[in-house]
Amino acid sequence: MSGNIYVIAGPSGVGKGTVLKKVLKLDKNLALSISATTRKPREGEVDGVNYYFVTRERFDEIIAEDGFLEYAEYVGNRYGTPLQPVLQKAEEGYDVILEIEVQGCMQVMEKLPNAKGIFILPPSMKELESRLRGRESETDEVIKKRLETAKVELGYVNKFDYFVVNDTVQNAANRIIRIIESNR
Ligand code: ADP
Ligand code: 5GP
Repeated sequence: MSGNIYVIAGPSGVGKGTVLKKVLKLDKNLALSISATTRKPREGEVDGVNYYFVTRERFDEIIAEDGFLEYAEYVGNRYGTPLQPVLQKAEEGYDVILEIEVQGCMQVMEKLPNAKGIFILPPSMKELESRLRGRESETDEVIKKRLETAKVELGYVNKFDYFVVNDTVQNAANRIIRIIESNR
């Protein structure tokens, strides 16, 4: 039996990475899709674990080979979901999670009508900004752009099947697990 596919979005800094790490630890029937990106690795990020870090040229080649399920540009860099691993994991029976921005979510939900969308919301915009700054991984200018993008992204909430507020990591993780279990 094949697994379900989930696209999970939410503004930069809302805690998607942190919450999903917990979700994946609690539920062993989940597989996280590893994206390709042209962004430079952050401190501690590992190629092939967090992302496949590629050049713009390689990214274009993968597009030409029809190798992406979806791809998008986000604050000056490109991000894409390699198609084959998603199909393979779903065929093996795993529920597959794609942590991607909203344009990519729209593409996936159009291509795969059974895919479900989950949007993660911050408790407030003020808290979002403070998490983004607290991460200390981007310059002021990039943080500003990411916050502007966040406001645009929040306009897409109603296109998603579920929304989850990330007040505490444990609460948000439990909410996501309940959604996934209810669809099994
Ligand atoms: P995203 O993947 O959505 O960009 P991250 O997972 O990198 O966000 O989280 C951004 C920052 O917010 C990190 O420093 C993280 O530790 C912190 N964070 C995540 N979830 C919470 C939460 N529920 N409460 C407080 N801080 C959080
Ligand atoms: P970051 O640079 O913070 O890792 O990611 C920036 C944004 O790109 C986040 O909203 C993240 O969800 C999104 N993203 C990561 N991988 C992909 C992908 O493969 N496709 C798309 N469309 N967005 C992605």
